[in-house]
Amino acid sequence: GSTIGILGGGQLGRMLSIAAAQLGFDVCIFTDEPDSPASRVSAKTILGNYLDHAALVDFARRVSVVTTEFENVPAETAEALTTAGARVAPSPRALAVAQDRFDEKSFFAAMGIATPAFAAVSSQAELDAALAQIGAPAILKTRRLGYDGRGQIRIRSAADAPGAYEKLGAPGILEGFCAFEREVSIIAVRGWDGAVAFYDLCENEHAGGILSRTTLPARVSDAVVSAARDAATKVLEAFDYVGVLTIEFFVMADGSMVANEMAPRVHNSGHWTIEGALTSQFEQHVRAVAGWSLGPTTRVAAIEMLNLIGDDANAWAALAADPDARVHLYGKRNARAGRKMGHVTKLKF
Ligand code: ATP
Ligand code: MG
Ligand code: MG
Repeated sequence: GSTIGILGGGQLGRMLSIAAAQLGFDVCIFTDEPDSPASRVSAKTILGNYLDHAALVDFARRVSVVTTEFENVPAETAEALTTAGARVAPSPRALAVAQDRFDEKSFFAAMGIATPAFAAVSSQAELDAALAQIGAPAILKTRRLGYDGRGQIRIRSAADAPGAYEKLGAPGILEGFCAFEREVSIIAVRGWDGAVAFYDLCENEHAGGILSRTTLPARVSDAVVSAARDAATKVLEAFDYVGVLTIEFFVMADGSMVANEMAPRVHNSGHWTIEGALTSQFEQHVRAVAGWSLGPTTRVAAIEMLNLIGDDANAWAALAADPDARVHLYGKRNARAGRKMGHVTKLKF
């Protein structure tokens, strides 16, 4: 068999590794985190800095394809791997766009995909000008490196603006606040041959900026499903994308859709696919990057997926005793508040 290289050692890499093993692949993890959740289930780990050229060249030589479990791979990393002869999927360009919220929203707009009103801000004066144009309420986010709602400041009214740029501490984007009816995500996949498949739309609830619950079927019209599929298809084709891609949307009261962000990878809102679909998003991603045909995305039941965040995972024994709960724990040593420690999926037939 051949070896799949994964950049990143978190829970997504762990679940990708488990799926890859099922299909007979070896996995090599590249991470800067010692004893990471992914390396503990993988045959080989290269522990290195994402800018360590010698380590990246070693990685590239060991694997037949490189993929990623996180979007913040430095552009230099993907470049170094490509130069060393590695096939990188999805494409470095998709990674680069997805890791900058301003580039990402500009890209959506260029594709004809609706977004919240947005403006780049790199000073307090630019924030004030953007707020005058977009209006409150609004959200100020760092352009780069935010996740789980980190790096965001809510601007409820103009009174919240003074000092906000300094508090953000990095180049940002101001977004108009969308008073959405619900949040949904689409998990899509594209193979090397250009074949595209979609999972059913996921309905997502966040608490404190972090995903807490995903349910299916999403309570949306067929028109919403088609709009999400159309948007995903445009994005996949624009990047000649290979692998799983996720797009998060706000669904407004009038049924219109606003794209929030994309993730060039498997996604937390797709964890239900492990038990709830004929092919999990993790297997699907491995299939796609390895050049296999895509698997069926058919959903087999109604779904509720609950994230176990921080202390939630301490209740593992009670969850394990619940015959309706399929329990997943990521093996993280330290249950910091707000940290994703595991998830539970419940299926209703
Ligand atoms: P993730 O963990 O999904 O990567 P993130 O840190 O990248 O999260 P966002 O997805 O941008 O952050 O925002 C987190 C949540 O905050 C959204 O799912 C949504 O509930 C809310 N939110 C973000 N932007 C807006 C907006 N413009 N209008 C209304 N709500 C928003
Ligand atoms: Mg995000
Ligand atoms: Mg998000």
